[in-house]
Amino acid sequence: MSEVSYDALRAQAAKRDSEDELSAKRAEFELDDTVYLDGNSLGALPTVVQERVADVISRQWGQLRIRSWEESGWWTAPERIGDRIAPLVGAAPGQIVVGDSTSVNVFKALVAAVRMARDSGEGRDEIVVDATTFPTDGYIAQSAARMTGCTLVPVAPGEVHGVLGPRTAVVLLNHADYRTGRLHDLPALTAAVHDAGALVVWDLCHTAGALPVGLDEHGVDLAVGCTYKYLNGGPGSPAYLYVRADLQARFDSPLPGWNSHAEPFGMRPEFEAADGAVRGRVGTPDILSMLALDAALDVWDGVSIEAVRAKSLALTDFFVECVAAYVPEGRVEVITPAAHEQRGSQVALRCEDAGDVMRRLVEHGVVGDFRAPDVLRFGFTPLYVGFADVERAAGVLARTLGETGTGTGIAG
Ligand SMILES: *Cc1c(COP(=O)(O)O)cnc(C)c1O
Repeated sequence: MSEVSYDALRAQAAKRDSEDELSAKRAEFELDDTVYLDGNSLGALPTVVQERVADVISRQWGQLRIRSWEESGWWTAPERIGDRIAPLVGAAPGQIVVGDSTSVNVFKALVAAVRMARDSGEGRDEIVVDATTFPTDGYIAQSAARMTGCTLVPVAPGEVHGVLGPRTAVVLLNHADYRTGRLHDLPALTAAVHDAGALVVWDLCHTAGALPVGLDEHGVDLAVGCTYKYLNGGPGSPAYLYVRADLQARFDSPLPGWNSHAEPFGMRPEFEAADGAVRGRVGTPDILSMLALDAALDVWDGVSIEAVRAKSLALTDFFVECVAAYVPEGRVEVITPAAHEQRGSQVALRCEDAGDVMRRLVEHGVVGDFRAPDVLRFGFTPLYVGFADVERAAGVLARTLGETGTGTGIAG
């Protein structure tokens, strides 16, 4: 590799950073000179969160105490913050509630979907699930199937079409594969599931805040997602549940708590579901985490998700280009699809000694993550990652790969 190519790519990075309409956003985050490419696992801290959480603790809790349930808007925070996430995933207001973890919301969505699929009285008894899914989704789907008397049908996302039929109750899919970064065709798969008379639940953990989702536009039934990845809500920040407006009256939650009751303070022994997305609530919301998320969402003010997507694709393209220029041929294999319509906001590289390589990368100030057994994962968060970061990460990767392994290629 000649110095010329380094210079050319560095110059290109500088030019692109100077033309980047989102570049000013980086100043709204707490960052240092580490190249942080792990925002698809834990988003960086938006500076505004610190002050706002301090106020929630010292004033709202410390001084107002129980009055804050009303005066500080704590009680309605789940639906209010859901409405702030809504435009990022293409949903009109009133369809998203924030609360619980993604795992718990997958459970609510799946069981409620099976119940709705059976409203019509047909014998729908199969739950189709992406066989390559993030493990928790698969575990929950398995349990939901047992509880509802359904059979679990695990399939590769590309084979979903072949298993849909009159027995399908619900299909649980990931919008992007957490390991490879492959983006699945949400509009086409949603339409295919609907043609089979079934419902679809989309897991948006790896796309919300990274690219346009278009939940309403594509007629998605139910969706879930976490808020600590591209939405920067903080460790363990609550997840969200989307229930399309026209399905809400039929949404029969398997976890009907007092927060989803029509009259929560009526303290009545019989359950009567509230109207609207509130049905997706269960118990007392996790206020500290929820309000940290609320503050973190301020960074999206004035940001278009289309601009985020355009920059995300440019960043991932540029990373692949730099890796191809700097890393010896055959040392890593890009397993993220090259086609834009099949790519989320990360690049995954397969490499025999990936665990060792990632440890060294982190030591050298480039933070991505390792997914067993052999995947290096790099997440690109357009609000705070720039092109110079990308070039630097690829350069450090090339040097690190030179220090480790046999150099005989990934198949060696
Ligand atoms: C991150 C992620 C989760 C996380 O679930 P938790 O309940 O928040 O731990 C679930 N599903 C997918 C696809 C994820 O990427």
